Amino acid sequence: MQTITTVAELRAALAKARDQRVGFVPTMGYLHDGHLALVEASRAQSDVTVVSIFVNPTQFGPTEDLSTYPRDFLRDEKLCRDAGVAIVFAPEAQEVYPAQYDTCVEAGELAKSLCGAFRPGHFRGVATVVCKLINMVQPDIAFFGQKDFQQFAVVRRMAIDLNLPIEIVTVPTVREPDGLAMSSRNRYLTTEERQRALAISRGLFAAEAELRAGERECEKLIAMARRHLDEIDRLQYLELVDAETLEPASNPLTHPAALCAAAYVGSTRLIDNVILKPQVSD
Ligand code: AMP
Repeated sequence: MQTITTVAELRAALAKARDQRVGFVPTMGYLHDGHLALVEASRAQSDVTVVSIFVNPTQFGPTEDLSTYPRDFLRDEKLCRDAGVAIVFAPEAQEVYPAQYDTCVEAGELAKSLCGAFRPGHFRGVATVVCKLINMVQPDIAFFGQKDFQQFAVVRRMAIDLNLPIEIVTVPTVREPDGLAMSSRNRYLTTEERQRALAISRGLFAAEAELRAGERECEKLIAMARRHLDEIDRLQYLELVDAETLEPASNPLTHPAALCAAAYVGSTRLIDNVILKPQVSD
């Protein structure tokens, strides 16, 4: 495995792999099994897997956790090596955003709801850095977690709209055995907070069970999840949206919809979602 920090070196290393299928997994590091599931998917669907580790400053708001975001590069490197990654690309911010940098990718309607409503500029930062990283790596296929469902939707739309010659793939959310969605930010939680954070997945799973029991009314599905989520310190949003358009889902639910939640547990903001897929035969 090679660790590379500059675009020039990256291009040189990948020039040798141009006849191979290149898979790309963008991350902000502090890797966990969720990230490694993306690596595994990439290894299964490509010949050369590139993982980027870059805590992207432009996707953090001024009061967010950019400076405290957890980092452990040596551990990440080892996890990538053990997982069969070919290249870890870990640029400094100046490499990604050179002096006088003045261009960005503005995501449209998909970026306005859910997290976008509470994190102004976040998806501009995400779309910009993903576009830049894709241009640097020039992969055939890139992998994103369902855990960040809106991010996946924004990136998939961007790839189509900007004619990026790439396939965008989503990988199901990896959870701890008790249901908590894996996240680098989970390390901010105290033992007691971590216990309370379980209300998020519990609520989402309760709505899923209600769907399986035949419920198709959006308000009832949301209410089922809300019962659990009310235990949380501060629920930022809980919304059921069409899985393609991210518009509010309508009754009766006939198309796949994402039930998405963002909540603060103590001072840590966590997001999670489940995809509700009504079967026509139900
Ligand atoms: P991050 O390092 O948080 O920016 O995440 C990098 C990639 O890993 C994104 O595509 C995330 O959606 C994905 N990811 C993060 N957590 C999980 C998880 N628990 N399961 C699956 N994918 C995840």
